[in-house]
Amino acid sequence: MSFVRTFDGDVSPEQLGFTYSHEHIVCRPPYWVMQGADDLLLDDKDKSQLDVFDFKKHGGQTIVDATAVDYGREVSAVQQISEETGITIIGTAGFNKSFLWDAPMRENLKQLVGNYETYYQWIEDKTINQLADFVIKEVEEGLEGTKLRGGQVKFGTGYNRITPLEEKTLRAVARAHHETKAPIHTHTEAGTMVLEQIDLLREEGINLEYVSFGHMDRNPDPFYHEQVAKTGAFLSFDGISKIKYAPESTRIHCILELVRKGFEDQILVSGDTARKSYYKHYDYGLGLENIIAKWVPRFKAEADSLGFDGEKLITKFFVDNPARCFSFKK
Ligand SMILES: [Zn+2]
Repeated sequence: MSFVRTFDGDVSPEQLGFTYSHEHIVCRPPYWVMQGADDLLLDDKDKSQLDVFDFKKHGGQTIVDATAVDYGREVSAVQQISEETGITIIGTAGFNKSFLWDAPMRENLKQLVGNYETYYQWIEDKTINQLADFVIKEVEEGLEGTKLRGGQVKFGTGYNRITPLEEKTLRAVARAHHETKAPIHTHTEAGTMVLEQIDLLREEGINLEYVSFGHMDRNPDPFYHEQVAKTGAFLSFDGISKIKYAPESTRIHCILELVRKGFEDQILVSGDTARKSYYKHYDYGLGLENIIAKWVPRFKAEADSLGFDGEKLITKFFVDNPARCFSFKK
């Protein structure tokens, strides 16, 4: 029996509908607060909500909020948005990457993880199994003292390296997966170290079909993508419209290359809109509606022109594949 765990309870995978697989909705990452990087703070619930409404207007139904505890998540605000828009939200247990904590976040986390000065100290002091227990609690009881439970477990690694603390969170998340059956999502920095993550996950006995690797389009390398796809894992192309990293044609050609090789059931697409300037209602950006309103028609046109069935692929990337990827399989 499989189900998807949302902020609105457990639902059948077929109920998700059109899904963005990796977004950020309301968050105030302490690291960016301390750097004075206002663009990276999604700190106005009402503005975020207007963008979520735009997504819904175009037929969107579900958003995976990929924000973990160490990225200044605001769980209750996201839940309110879910309630007021009718959009289904899947929350994230586990870790993002090694961010710092500011004073308000330390206060907030005192009850949860104890009185630690920094994220690093917390991860260093706890055993892998203690960290796993923390993640299991986030999936089975709730995130940050709420009753809103995580629908996936996450860890992250750095650019071309995996630090000992990152490896520790990876192993903790893998163990939490074994206990809860929650799907695993990973942050990769610029799409690197995926094969190394795979080696470590295998050491922990993980079936790669339960894992999605984030930011694969930051490393637009078809051979690399094929190596990952062969493990059965999902590849998340979640940097749509970030032309500063690569033109759209590069992402689309990488996706179609995977389709051509037979991996169309393992592709996820999303925008990772984690800046005010990406949001329409914060700062005139393309907004959460961009993918569903503009990218989908462009993808279909390009896929069709190359002899693929664009419509069928869109249904896979946004409906069928997320339904499988985000399922708990008991
Ligand atoms: Zn993200």
